Amino acid sequence: MKNTDYKKMYEKIYNTLGDLTPLEVDCGVLCDGACCKGDEQTGMRLFPHEESCLKVAEIESGEKLAVCNGTCNRSYRPLACRIFPFFPTIDENGKIFVEPDYRAFRLCPLLSHSDEILFDQKFFKALKKVGKFLAKDDECKEYLYKITEEIDMYHSFLYNE
Ligand code: SF4
Ligand code: SF4
Repeated sequence: MKNTDYKKMYEKIYNTLGDLTPLEVDCGVLCDGACCKGDEQTGMRLFPHEESCLKVAEIESGEKLAVCNGTCNRSYRPLACRIFPFFPTIDENGKIFVEPDYRAFRLCPLLSHSDEILFDQKFFKALKKVGKFLAKDDECKEYLYKITEEIDMYHSFLYNE
């Protein structure tokens, strides 16, 4: 995709996910909202050019992190927060999958207790679509490859592969 209109692309992505989350209920009750409890040094990594349409949180320019104080207007939260703890991974043929983001394994009970949880399949379908939208843009596709590699590395580390 040449000359991507990123604002439009992320709006489409946010709309695709809508209010969907991995569970039909608020998973924050399982862990007291652990993933929103960073400090001023931590933040959620933004997807390429996502800052063009973010209205929430402070953007750390060099690192492209969205740093928040643990509360936000959910309608404006970054994509990384909307899809946590899953990620649209990509294989060498450009095929998109939705996989647990193993970087969050120790933090998020949705991953460590996944066998006991009934997930909302609509969320996974929407996230796969989101991955396909992202893969149409070269920079975003590169980002998917980079994060897929990180997730694979964490997976190998966790399971000693
Ligand atoms: S850490 Fe996991 S279970 Fe807890 S609020 Fe975040 S996504 Fe939900
Ligand atoms: S931006 Fe919102 S959803 Fe994301 S970590 Fe901060 S409070 Fe949580």
